[in-house]
Amino acid sequence: MVDGVSSSQDVRRVTVLGATGSVGTNTVDLIAREPDRFSVEALAGGSNAALLARQARDLGAAFAAVADEAAWPELRDALAGTGIEAAAGREAVLEAARRPADWTMGAIVGAAGLAPTLEAVRRGGIVALANKEALVCAGHLFTEEAERAGCRILPVDSEHNAIYQVFDDARREGIDKIILTASGGPFRTLSIDEMARKTPAEAVAHPNWSMGVKISIDSATMMNKGLELIEAHHLFALPEDRIDVLVHPQSVVHSLVSYIDGSVLAQLGSPDMRTPIAYCLAWPRRMTTPVERLDLAAIGGLEFSAPDRLRFPSLELAREALRVGGDAAPVLNGANEAAVEAFVAGRIGFTQIAAVVAETLQRCPTEPIGDLDAVYAADAKGRRVAADIVSVIEAGGGLSIAHAGAAN
Ligand code: NAD
Ligand code: MG
Repeated sequence: MVDGVSSSQDVRRVTVLGATGSVGTNTVDLIAREPDRFSVEALAGGSNAALLARQARDLGAAFAAVADEAAWPELRDALAGTGIEAAAGREAVLEAARRPADWTMGAIVGAAGLAPTLEAVRRGGIVALANKEALVCAGHLFTEEAERAGCRILPVDSEHNAIYQVFDDARREGIDKIILTASGGPFRTLSIDEMARKTPAEAVAHPNWSMGVKISIDSATMMNKGLELIEAHHLFALPEDRIDVLVHPQSVVHSLVSYIDGSVLAQLGSPDMRTPIAYCLAWPRRMTTPVERLDLAAIGGLEFSAPDRLRFPSLELAREALRVGGDAAPVLNGANEAAVEAFVAGRIGFTQIAAVVAETLQRCPTEPIGDLDAVYAADAKGRRVAADIVSVIEAGGGLSIAHAGAAN
């Protein structure tokens, strides 16, 4: 077996981190459709013990871990007598990631996924990476760990998965640019004033994709595309100025690679995460999915436009963090997670998410990142400074930046 790729007869032993979330349940759905092809080593989730227990039973998992210790009695009782080992707490999630598997889905949301995803990476084999924040935070430390362990990272994020499929890695010198497409989110056509009045429920209602709360709000601010820009930089080893972003409201062209001879290669499909997840699950082969087939004649037209930097300043904030380097990306990510939480809790308005991130970056002088401790420290710093700014906003205080759009 090389790089976690077994022969055609072999059953792939898989682990799903973040099994109860949007990407996680789609992954479980695909695994359940081909029980002869996969055996499930471990499933890990945050706090939904009932769903995790059901998934573990349905898939015959060896181990189930829930991060939230308060959910432990429910998980233990639900799995009693099944022979499935169960555990709770942060260490239990790390244990799920450490147990031997050929293939691991990293689908925990946010920087909380970094430590468990890295455990899986260190074990080698294949890591299907949905948890973009882990890569945004740890950057080259993450990719270096993967290289050391002989771990193959397969991108699950639909844009990066698309690029992976059409990126001629063996002849990189022929590649000019990569182009990430963005739906533009639910507020694509709104003015800043209109956006300022939007509620968390409206921000989560994405027009094309059904996703978790955090990424849905990131899509509405377009910070998601900013994080994806940093993710693409680390996955494909291209500098920031060779990664473009293109707004494409239909989410049919999932991303493109532009070659020096003028050729542009793209991957297309219906907006359904089961396609990129299936690509990773079966890699290097393919597997059938129940995904609705793409009917371009029915769609009729595809639109493209440049992103609006003024209405969606988050994208530029992420570009700037990538240009600056050091700990700017984990600070940006930590601040964004704190600001999104504050917006969901009704403590700040929608356009203040980007304003909080911009202000946090201004207040945090960039420091070098030498090791993972520095990554965790930068993440904590971003959250702490952003939380202070949120408190000032809540208390009716203004920001030195009037609204996020002025940050550029
Ligand atoms: P989600 O909120 O639906 O699910 C997150 C999962 O992580 C849940 O199982 C939750 O219980 C678990 N979790 C949260 N905190 C945890 C912790 N401390 N320890 C262990 N488990 C924990 O999120 P999602 O939409 O599935 O997104 C997951 C990741 O995939 C994110 O990084 C997101 O950016 C990325 N992604 C998602 C999509 C999508 O379509 N949803 C697409 C591309 C990329
Ligand atoms: Mg994406």
